[in-house]
Amino acid sequence: MRIVLVGPPGAGKGTQAAYLAENLSIPHISTGDLFRANISQGTDLGKQARAYMDAGQLVPDEVTIGMAKDRMAQPDAVNGFLLDGFPRNVGQAEALDVMLKDEGVKLDAVLDLEVPEDEVVKRIAGRRICRNDSAHVFHATYNKPKTEGVCDTCGGELYQRDDDSEETVRTRLEVYHTQTEPIIDYYRAQGLVVTISALGKVTEVTARAMAALKQSDEG
Ligand SMILES: [Zn+2]
Repeated sequence: MRIVLVGPPGAGKGTQAAYLAENLSIPHISTGDLFRANISQGTDLGKQARAYMDAGQLVPDEVTIGMAKDRMAQPDAVNGFLLDGFPRNVGQAEALDVMLKDEGVKLDAVLDLEVPEDEVVKRIAGRRICRNDSAHVFHATYNKPKTEGVCDTCGGELYQRDDDSEETVRTRLEVYHTQTEPIIDYYRAQGLVVTISALGKVTEVTARAMAALKQSDEG
């Protein structure tokens, strides 16, 4: 399956992406990991991204799109993938459509994780991420690691990202509303959007997502 995962910051996207990708046996492709990989490997796109970031500027869509295209061309992504953080605006969604069309394939679903805004704020403040792998995500209340501050998966150190602090949450929600939410309408017009509630335990949300994806695949 080729899936795009969307949802506001704090919807548990990273956690769900990791579980869903595992359940569906497809790679989890997150924008954050794409940037880190390209920068650490010193690819041309990574160097370009670095230059914009060092200058305090936003990385242009064409750079992000290039990284996503390279990643989706790798053998493990030929039969499916789960995109997390890309596309993040309508321009990127249009570019993705062109890429897929060139390959003669289509998206199967756009999974939209829904969560009320006050819940978003609570969730973000408690989020803890593994220093070794950003797909290893825990929560101080909702998804505690067995040992505080330690990743259950790999033993890495858990930390709170700077942009998970409460004061930046409102700004991030605003950016999500203005830039990313329009892609839900864009994909709704293609009949691809599957909306589920992201409330409840992580395992419950995963089960809900799997059931909704199965239903959309059959329907
Ligand atoms: Zn870890």
